[in-house]
Amino acid sequence: MVMSLEARYEEFWRQSIKQLNDVVKATGLPIAPDEKGQYNLWYDVREMRLRFSISVERIKKFFEGLREGKVYTTRCRRCGRYYFPPQADCPYCKASDMDWVEVSGEGELLTYTVINTKPLTYSHYPDYIVAIARMREGFNVLAWLRADDPRKVRVGMKVKLQVVKREPEGYLTYEFVPAEQ
Ligand SMILES: [Zn+2]
Repeated sequence: MVMSLEARYEEFWRQSIKQLNDVVKATGLPIAPDEKGQYNLWYDVREMRLRFSISVERIKKFFEGLREGKVYTTRCRRCGRYYFPPQADCPYCKASDMDWVEVSGEGELLTYTVINTKPLTYSHYPDYIVAIARMREGFNVLAWLRADDPRKVRVGMKVKLQVVKREPEGYLTYEFVPAEQ
């Protein structure tokens, strides 16, 4: 499955580069209309491949938690502020005096948006919902909301933050699900 995704991206880029080369040959400039044909875009002739990597050494308990099916975050011992996703340092106290706490997972939906125009690298997912919920502990969490029917999603509804496996890649992450009423 992952291989076929990669093949799909490769094909997309191969086609894009071919089209760009054709445009440059025909017009002398790497300028072409956007997907909707509305506006002209300049396409950089250099291709940049980018894959983010971030040090997680000081927040590895968070990832160990995901493997246990638990969502942990950090709370500053000095000022009591929660950080989600977890941070090893408190920017208010300028200290690294943190407690690890398991979050309740209980939240109330503040806002959401259904994403049906997706970036290329997310294009293999069904339409997904990006949501922000206020957690019982008093901090906000941004996460996908897994809902069978997006039309039933309402601001103010109770949601539960839980560990899920993101398919088809198969890695552990967290998402909201509607809480059982
Ligand atoms: Zn603090």
